Amino acid sequence: MRTLRTVAELRAALAQPRREGRRIGLIPTMGAFHDGHRSLMRRARSECDEVVVSLFVNPTQFTESADLAAYPRDEGRDGMVAAEESADFLFVPAVSEIYPEGFATTVRIGAVTEVLEGVHRGREHFDGVATVVCKLFNIVAPEIAYFGQKDVQQTLVIRRMIRDLNLPVQIEICPTVRQPDGLALSSRNARLAPAERKRATALYQALATIQVLLSAGETDAARLLAAARSELEDPLIRVEYLQIVDPDTLAPLTTVDRSALAVVAAWLGNARLIDNLPLATPRTRSA
Ligand code: AMP
Repeated sequence: MRTLRTVAELRAALAQPRREGRRIGLIPTMGAFHDGHRSLMRRARSECDEVVVSLFVNPTQFTESADLAAYPRDEGRDGMVAAEESADFLFVPAVSEIYPEGFATTVRIGAVTEVLEGVHRGREHFDGVATVVCKLFNIVAPEIAYFGQKDVQQTLVIRRMIRDLNLPVQIEICPTVRQPDGLALSSRNARLAPAERKRATALYQALATIQVLLSAGETDAARLLAAARSELEDPLIRVEYLQIVDPDTLAPLTTVDRSALAVVAAWLGNARLIDNLPLATPRTRSA
């Protein structure tokens, strides 16, 4: 695996494989690799000839400077993980390489950015995500880019950007990788104190409760959400949102009689965690 730091070096390294028609896959990340990142790398490795992992803690998508400052960074370890997963290139640009002096462009996506994370983190978060991912698509020009279901709203934002801007990239969404107790892997889990870590499973329990009741025939969103909310009643947990939404628009549903998505965001101590679960209704499953 080669670690490259400039756009020019990466473009030069990919020129020959591209001429030979080799399929290039990109996994955009912010590092602090865990098994969720590994699953994306493995999927790309199985589908692409050249696997590019980008590692860039993108300052423009952080709406709080303390969150950016506390973001875990360990390039040495991340490099070992990416090499273990047989990535071909680790792209680690400096902030000045991505945002040089005078940088003045923002990619702003409407509609799907205006709810959930867009309300709670601010839509500037998705401006930062869309802008950096658009740049990475232009720098790497991958055939396929890999994202995690864990950040489902991000996947919808990227899909919208690809359609609206006619970007020639296919995206693949990989399932959420979880701990044995259901907690979705996240670099932010490291911020949980032991007692918080123990209770953090409640987010998944709340989502799973919705699926269990739905499978038993309950379709009223208010009743499903009330049951889920009781899983989250704990002095250690501060819920920001818990909703059942349309999987394409993220608009709230009142009756869950078609494919849907349960989404949650909550604070435990200093860690803000998000999770989601695609819901199968008895009807969508038998269809
Ligand atoms: P990040 O480094 O947190 O920006 O994540 C990089 C990519 O890994 C994103 O597409 C995430 O959605 C994905 N990802 C993060 N956590 C998980 C997880 N637990 N399971 C699957 N994918 C994940």
